Amino acid sequence: MNIAHHLATTLKTLRQQREWSLSKLAEETGVSKAMLGQIERHESSPTIATLWKIATGLNVPFSLFITPPEGEETAYDPQQQAMVVTPVFPWDPVLHYDHFAITLAPGAVSESTPHEDGVIEHVVAINGTLDMCIDGQWQPVSEGEGLRFAGDKPHAYRNSTDRTVLFHSLIHYPQNKKEKAAG
Ligand code: MN
Repeated sequence: MNIAHHLATTLKTLRQQREWSLSKLAEETGVSKAMLGQIERHESSPTIATLWKIATGLNVPFSLFITPPEGEETAYDPQQQAMVVTPVFPWDPVLHYDHFAITLAPGAVSESTPHEDGVIEHVVAINGTLDMCIDGQWQPVSEGEGLRFAGDKPHAYRNSTDRTVLFHSLIHYPQNKKEKAAG
């Protein structure tokens, strides 16, 4: 099963477990019903930002959508390398965190809507310098440095340099809210 197919199946399964219609899912996630239907039918690949909205609305870890059950190392790349997200470790149900390696192409910007309440995000620049926008303020995160911020507010990632930047993102979810996906 490839990653786009896994994503489509996971979304449909999670929606059906909740006995939600596509309209209800659209309401909960802020993503249009048309787009959600296309994703479920494997006709469209959501951007990272859209996928985050979906994960937040469903109250599940982001990594569920991009980690196939067989645990293959797979990168999710919906926009031809603009932003590529790869799990470093699978979702940790005990520690309640996701750990991703993310590359951002030169000039790329990715805006994130707030994750669910209580999410704390850590960004560590591994190779190159990343710019982060927190509370409306852009700031550089230099190679080897890290930044911790409240992920439940809007934030954005940007690469202002002329080479691809690699950073890690650790997402800590609140302990009491996270569900495990079945299937
Ligand atoms: Mn984020």
